[in-house]
Amino acid sequence: MRNLSVGIDAGGTLTKIGLVDGNGEILRSLRIPTEPSRGPAHFARRITALLKDWSFGSVGLGLAGGVDPATGELLFVPNLKGWGGFSFRKAFRRSLGVPVVVENDANAAVWGGYAAALKRRPRTVVGVTLGTGVGGGLVIEGRLHRGATGSAGEIGHQTLELYGPRCHCGRRGCLEAYAGAYGIGRLAREFMRRPPSPPTPEAVAAAALDGDRGARRVWDEAGSRLGQGLANLVLVLNPDAVLLFGGVARAGKLVLDPIRRVFAAQSFRRPFQKTSLLALSNRDWGVVGAALLSRERRETSKC
Ligand SMILES: [Zn+2]
Repeated sequence: MRNLSVGIDAGGTLTKIGLVDGNGEILRSLRIPTEPSRGPAHFARRITALLKDWSFGSVGLGLAGGVDPATGELLFVPNLKGWGGFSFRKAFRRSLGVPVVVENDANAAVWGGYAAALKRRPRTVVGVTLGTGVGGGLVIEGRLHRGATGSAGEIGHQTLELYGPRCHCGRRGCLEAYAGAYGIGRLAREFMRRPPSPPTPEAVAAAALDGDRGARRVWDEAGSRLGQGLANLVLVLNPDAVLLFGGVARAGKLVLDPIRRVFAAQSFRRPFQKTSLLALSNRDWGVVGAALLSRERRETSKC
């Protein structure tokens, strides 16, 4: 069925692939190990082989890293070493014969949530993806905002504390160093008497729900820091909605309550009262968004 699209969300360890319809429903899905050390050409060949029996009209690929919006080439891809400079657009177009869109994975997830969960009703949306790192994407006036060099929405690397803990990007005090999975692990070792081993967000959330006071402090701290970072964006962009994606978003109230407290304590009340805060963790939004973006590109290129 040519009116279906394939969405691919390639993470550092796992790649999710889905056949997606125009409403963002995933009709068929697969998960494979990414095997980044075998290189991007090998990855492209494996994907092509897996899709040979599927019928679709376009492919969208989301990757953790910088993507040149003009060429679709990968720029800076810290979790997929050696993949920089490779053009998946060319490789897939040649082997699959359909239009291909390559996008940053957080942008793809935010577009998926915006288009399929919010049905494009609001105009301006801030999305944050919570995993090992903290990524983000911005929809401004109904369009995905990529910025001059394609890196818009790097929400996780805004500085919250000049001399704060070290972030994976090399700087100190970034939002990610508090609210990324490794930031939560560090807080667990700091605040919990018996931190779980390993101190994953899921394990710390389970401990907090069991009444562990140290674990609750972890979530208060991570959630407040996330709230600070998101409040900065609400002040700048005055969005209709703020969306949370990913594993940490599954902590639900544990992470949402401190964000709401930070929002409620702001001096400029109106933008915060008008912003809906939603956690979306029930679908592979990166897969959905990549597929829907490729579908849109296909439709606009027909005109
Ligand atoms: Zn950083």
